[in-house]
Amino acid sequence: MVEGAAVEVYDWLIVGGGIHGTHIAVRLLASSRTQPVAVRIVDPSVTLLRKWRERSASTKMKYLRSPGVHNLATDPFALKTFAGKKSRTKPGIFAQPYARPALELFNRHCDALIADASLGELHIMDTIQSMDLGEDRVQLKTTSGKLLQSKKVVLALGPAEIKKTPSWVTPEMSQVQHLFAAEFDWSEIVKYKSVAIIGGGISAVQAALYAESIGLEVHLLSRHPMRTHMFDSDPGWLGPKFLTQFSREKSYAKRRQWIDRSRYTGSVPPEIHRSLNSRIQSGRIHFRQTEVDCGQQEGVTTQLTLKDRHQIEVDQVILATGFQKARPGGKMIDRLVERYQLPVSVCGFPIVDRQLRWHPRIYVSGSLAELEIGPVAKNIAGARQAAERIESALKN
Ligand SMILES: Cc1cc2nc3c(=O)[nH]c(=O)nc-3n(C[C@H](O)[C@H](O)[C@H](O)COP(=O)(O)OP(=O)(O)OC[C@H]3O[C@@H](n4cnc5c(N)ncnc54)[C@H](O)[C@@H]3O)c2cc1C
Repeated sequence: MVEGAAVEVYDWLIVGGGIHGTHIAVRLLASSRTQPVAVRIVDPSVTLLRKWRERSASTKMKYLRSPGVHNLATDPFALKTFAGKKSRTKPGIFAQPYARPALELFNRHCDALIADASLGELHIMDTIQSMDLGEDRVQLKTTSGKLLQSKKVVLALGPAEIKKTPSWVTPEMSQVQHLFAAEFDWSEIVKYKSVAIIGGGISAVQAALYAESIGLEVHLLSRHPMRTHMFDSDPGWLGPKFLTQFSREKSYAKRRQWIDRSRYTGSVPPEIHRSLNSRIQSGRIHFRQTEVDCGQQEGVTTQLTLKDRHQIEVDQVILATGFQKARPGGKMIDRLVERYQLPVSVCGFPIVDRQLRWHPRIYVSGSLAELEIGPVAKNIAGARQAAERIESALKN
């Protein structure tokens, strides 16, 4: 970690050290070997990729949903090479079809990339509070009072992190926890006998399968039937099949509609659906397609009254309901938009150029780049597309 000296003007400052910020840093450093660039990543976590690790660990996912070519190295085949020659035939390394890497392998590969590029030394552990756009640089202020300066800034902020919480949940319900809450801890939950998991997407189902595997009585409550899709959007969004027409669309409101329609939210890949079905059929997971009408906690027991009129009693409720669709960055981004009149669509998200430039000095990635990259913007594939486009700015 480096202390950001106020006098040094970095070439690139990346706000956010998640999947997106880390990959963009790897790419910018790799493409500037002949002409070194000063890159820094600002993120409040002790280590890069902290949120990714926490969330993926909470779901107890064994494999990524995306193929191994979607990794954080510049070379899409780097993860396969890293896994070694025998990895294709050895069980537990890649899940087929599409060679989806084990989470453990993916994370080990990320660690190696971070070490190779010495990204830890470029990480400033802080939060950007505000930024001001000058003629030749951006001035950034952190919550700890540091002042940083950079010629260009990439906003890789991740989701808005406003968790979706059903209306029946009250703050007093200590036995209701969000799967992506910082304090969520399976080692506490394992002490209980029964659990209700609310949600019908991949995170909910993976959590349900894990809870069943550690001997808990599991109730999985989804408001929709199980939806099966290999990926969370059609692979046509990774290339010209859909992107050409999407890029030609002049109306950003229509682009938003297109994105919303194209995401297979609340869906699970076929093999996870099969695992779930076998446990439902054997009575080891109780699945109900319904919603909770109201909940009441007495002692450590939570009673849930369901809209299908059933009642269940459990020791713990886990909300696997995801995050709200909202523009990330809170007041920092609100101020940037207002003060510098940065263009936004009716949905509030940035209107950027092909190189993901929101302003000559500000680039975006992740959900902030959705209206340009399309439905995969938040995924690893979206990080790769964003990095490629931002990298092209180095040549200008
Ligand atoms: C359980 C799970 C499984 C997934 N599986 C896959 C998969 O298999 N394949 C796939 O392609 N995608 C997958 N995804 C989706 C996607 O790849 C991830 O959500 C990805 O982690 C998003 O990365 P990010 O960098 O945008 O956000 P984050 O990982 O949230 O990182 C953003 C970082 O920015 C920091 N930050 C925010 N604001 C500031 C600020 N003002 N100053 C400084 N730092 C700031 C945050 O603290 C955070 O550390 C999965 C997501 C989840 C949750």
